[in-house]
Amino acid sequence: MYELNIAVIGTGYVGAVTGACLANLGNTIIFVGRNKEKLNLIESGKSPIFEPGLDQLLIDNNERISTMTDLSDAVYKTDITFICVGTPSKFDGSIDLQQINDVSVAIGKSLATSEKRHTIIVKSTVLPGTTEQLVIPVLERESGKKAFLEFGIASNPEFLKEGSAIEDFFHTDRVVIGVNDPETENVIKKIYSSLNVPIFSTNIKTSEMIKYVSNAFLATKISFANEIGNLCKQMEIDSYEVFRGVGLDTRISPHFFRSGIGFGGSCFPKDVRALIAHARNLGIDPRVLKAVMGTNEDQPVKMVELLKHHMDISGKTVGVLGLSFKPDSDDVRESRAIPIIRLLIEQGAAVIAFDPVAMDNFKPHFPDIHFAETAEEVLATDAILIVTEWKEFENLDYRGKIIIDGRRIEKARKESKIYEGVCW
Ligand code: NAD
Repeated sequence: MYELNIAVIGTGYVGAVTGACLANLGNTIIFVGRNKEKLNLIESGKSPIFEPGLDQLLIDNNERISTMTDLSDAVYKTDITFICVGTPSKFDGSIDLQQINDVSVAIGKSLATSEKRHTIIVKSTVLPGTTEQLVIPVLERESGKKAFLEFGIASNPEFLKEGSAIEDFFHTDRVVIGVNDPETENVIKKIYSSLNVPIFSTNIKTSEMIKYVSNAFLATKISFANEIGNLCKQMEIDSYEVFRGVGLDTRISPHFFRSGIGFGGSCFPKDVRALIAHARNLGIDPRVLKAVMGTNEDQPVKMVELLKHHMDISGKTVGVLGLSFKPDSDDVRESRAIPIIRLLIEQGAAVIAFDPVAMDNFKPHFPDIHFAETAEEVLATDAILIVTEWKEFENLDYRGKIIIDGRRIEKARKESKIYEGVCW
């Protein structure tokens, strides 16, 4: 096991998980963030985000973890920096690289004052070419040093799934690294050496592309499943059975092969949109990717349409079970609950919503709806929409209820009075 001094910039889902897992491998970690309260939480062994197992990792490795708001100082005190800041969508769907640019400036300034060779690793999802055309020129300009010679730089995209991020870190299918010089390659291989997982080493631009293609492919698989699911529903075929049968084919695999109300979260929608915008800039019409997004936007509408087959929702109270974009996460970014609740309100329904962990994050989106204390309170409404497949929703009493299910909760399917699955 190698013990390295590592700065992790950004304490969101990727930064917090990466830093805690690297600390657990025996490395010394400085988390760099802008919010002192979040940093204090980390120091006290509490994760700033909800991610199963993360608190325990922070507690177990407390003596190897510290935090700072001064990014330059953190870089100066360490040998390796992981960039884990956000790369959100701009209004037009293209990627917003402001956070990447800002941290590159600060890292570059710090490199100027440091004698040691430092290695910078871009873990944030960035479009192919970003490290070479933005990060490196900024670092070189601010530091007066040459990339690959006086400092190391690499791409190392992240493939974790929120909700199982710790497990994904330690048992990933592969670590992808984009490198341009053997010294940097050795540094990254050292970091991951004790994991005993395949390391796929390529050039920087290809590594950046691998991340986008992974996400775009998975998003495509989901939208394909939803289109087939809509077709199955019309033909009174259970699409879940269909995908189970088709997924047994090892060329296809059963993973991410389910129909429902589509994908949300901080990655698939923004990354597919960024790829679409990038393709257009290159003069290519990305017809498949555009259709992937179109199908995804239609699925939540279908849920509300199905409910309207059973009742006039104007003046009724509709319950929404689940607000996070997926179970075991408090992340509500691009959650399907957002368009669904917007539609319900537009059509005159009152909404009562519940989520086991994501209500605080969700409240700013709809401050005026009623947030229930318990899932049972939601069940007392005129009709219930199941939007996130939290495990605890499998234990509720759905007898006598009207349920529109976007995620296939078996107990609801078996016992509710009126039941409609979105694609089954
Ligand atoms: P996030 O928004 O949860 O976290 C980003 C953090 O960076 C925020 O806490 C922000 O305050 C911080 N930050 C921004 N500028 C900073 C600065 N100058 N100094 C210190 N901190 C700064 O985002 P995330 O979900 O962790 O994603 C980070 C990156 O990883 C994105 O590019 C994303 O696409 C990618 N990614 C995310 C996931 C995921 O599941 N969330 C998975 C794989 C890849």
